[in-house]
Amino acid sequence: MASLSLRNIYKVYPNGFNAVKDFNLEIEDKEFIIFVGPSGCGKSTTLRMIAGLEEISKGELYIDDKLVNDVEPKDRDIAMVFQSYALYPHMSIYDNMAFGLKLRKMPKDEIDRRVREAARILDIEHLLDRKPKLLSGGQRQRVAMGRAIVREPKVFLMDEPLSNLDAKLRVQMRIEISKLHQRLQSTIIYVTHDQTEAMTLGTRIVVMKDGVIQQVDSPQNLYDRP
Ligand code: ADP
Ligand code: ADP
Repeated sequence: MASLSLRNIYKVYPNGFNAVKDFNLEIEDKEFIIFVGPSGCGKSTTLRMIAGLEEISKGELYIDDKLVNDVEPKDRDIAMVFQSYALYPHMSIYDNMAFGLKLRKMPKDEIDRRVREAARILDIEHLLDRKPKLLSGGQRQRVAMGRAIVREPKVFLMDEPLSNLDAKLRVQMRIEISKLHQRLQSTIIYVTHDQTEAMTLGTRIVVMKDGVIQQVDSPQNLYDRP
């Protein structure tokens, strides 16, 4: 269960650049929200503020009615999946997925349960002993998702997770992400440039430009109208 409330949020970077202006959005539990808009319009900045990786300059962020502006990233119950996989090359796939949980000092048997469950969902059980360099791009992207899933977060933030994959794999992974959303019953915020991804995955689409929300609408209303 996770709803988010973003109220009058601004981001001003230390150099004075105002990257996000008066961002207001209510996100309900289990929504699949898509952020679209030209490069540099503030999508990643907004995601990073939600994740706690970037300070909110002004405004309030609530998760399940709790103000989280000053809550550490690790205590936010949010996991982020990036477009670059950034797997640790010297570690096995198992250890790559377990790493974040070990840092949190989770008991070993609980880590093992979570890693194996995520590997099963993502169909990478047979790869757990391998090193990342032996995996294909699609398999690596699954591992990157696995690292997020094992945290069992309330909210997933995905920043163009499929943009480095070829067209065929993108279609396949898109279908898997859709299944994952239904299965995990999580709230997802997803940045993409791909209209098909936006239309097929999103419950609502947020269109941004120059740090401002231009429009929020359903995929049908946004794309199907003449
Ligand atoms: P998007 O994800 O939509 O491509 P970003 O959120 O990455 O956009 O960036 C929004 C704007 O903020 C861009 O103009 C970018 O150059 C600027 N920006 C991003 N990070 C910083 C930073 N650390 N300092 C100053 N400006 C930044
Ligand atoms: P992407 O487009 O893949 O999101 P960016 O090139 O916007 O990546 O940003 C890459 C990194 O550089 C980010 O950590 C961002 O905060 C930083 N960055 C982007 N624009 C600026 C800027 N104008 N000044 C300082 N840092 C920036």
